Amino acid sequence: MILEATKPGVDPAMEKEFNPWLAAEARFNEAATLLGLNDGFRKVLKSPAMEVTVHIPVELEDGRLEVFTGYRVQHSIARGPAKGGIRFAPDVTLDEIRALASWMTWKCAVVNIPFGGGKGGVICDPSVLSQNELERITRRYTASLMDVIGPERDVPAPDMNTNEQTMAWIMDTYSMHKRSTVTAVVTGKPLNLGGSRGRVEATGRGCLFVTLQALRKFHMDPAETKVVVQGFGNVGGKAAKLMHKAGMKIISVIEYDGAVYNPHGIDVAALEKHRQETGSITGFAEAEDMDRFEAMFLPCEVLVPAAKENVIHSKNAGKIDAKIICEGANGPTTAEADKILDEKGIFVIPDILANAGGVTVSYFEWVQDRMGYFWNEQMVNGRLEEIMVNSFKDVVDYGERHKVHNRAAAYMLALDRVAFAIKLRGIYA
Ligand code: GLU
Repeated sequence: MILEATKPGVDPAMEKEFNPWLAAEARFNEAATLLGLNDGFRKVLKSPAMEVTVHIPVELEDGRLEVFTGYRVQHSIARGPAKGGIRFAPDVTLDEIRALASWMTWKCAVVNIPFGGGKGGVICDPSVLSQNELERITRRYTASLMDVIGPERDVPAPDMNTNEQTMAWIMDTYSMHKRSTVTAVVTGKPLNLGGSRGRVEATGRGCLFVTLQALRKFHMDPAETKVVVQGFGNVGGKAAKLMHKAGMKIISVIEYDGAVYNPHGIDVAALEKHRQETGSITGFAEAEDMDRFEAMFLPCEVLVPAAKENVIHSKNAGKIDAKIICEGANGPTTAEADKILDEKGIFVIPDILANAGGVTVSYFEWVQDRMGYFWNEQMVNGRLEEIMVNSFKDVVDYGERHKVHNRAAAYMLALDRVAFAIKLRGIYA
């Protein structure tokens, strides 16, 4: 289920623009320069603390032996254990995992939770693998990382194509090796295995909270707000549902196989039901089918790119007709596109703030596991709202004070917090 960033066959010259590590570096450099960080600190903050590659032999259903490659990158552990998801996808690269790990460091710092940043990935195509094969890959990957992950070291979570079941397998494998049940080794677990209430919807709910803050800032009425959501999975699907519930009009939903459009608003629950029954959002009776690339350019108040990296780039950013962009995905906008959106005066809520609701409730889950005491959903959502609203305010105020756009402000705030932690800890020699 992969949304391509451009129409097939477009411009190989954009490869550099699409390299996530270069994109992360461009944002890092911009913020480091604005902060006046010295060379030494730049080097320390930029370099991942640890990168592990594992080759995992797995017996497939038909008896063949296959070897899969997996990564885990701990970008920083300066502010606490590394934290970040594990993705399964055929196009996973070390550069991508590195970039995503660094984004987790900045994200955790923006919302001020006591974690560093990490990310993992396995190169595999989950759409052609059975549940048994996925379980074997997950367990062997976990076993290979026994000395890397742990509640005090590095705490994985779901990401693209991994879910509660994947986390349950990781928790079980880790616990079998440790000879006792260690629920806090991963977050995003099923509720009855130490998961947190509200975790599944947390990223989408976080998107809702920051979008409501942006609407408030511009004196816009949610009932008059047209929203286009790209991606109808764990982030986009939940964000669409919650924004619809909050009175906004979801005029278009875009997926990898097409888009649907209704200028009067789509009933998100009905669309979800339609997809469950037919396997696709297209062909939905209460909306028109639409070209999935064109739908990105529909005039709207809020665009929520919640699918994958690089969907807003130098070739299409100029055509975006939204007032606010709420980045539900990690890295949906390229560094080149940042400038175009800025010139157009679009208010971007950057990924490291907009989608931080997921890792924030992961933090709550980790805390609950370690306390052995579980909170009700109201408490989880209330605490999430408080963190998202405060972080939005921190970023926007910081940007206004230093006259920089929101993404630069979020990075500056984050870099400053991580640099300060390193300074306090000192460099161990
Ligand atoms: N994969 C999610 C992210 O990119 C969640 C990470 C976590 O909860 O640790 O933010």
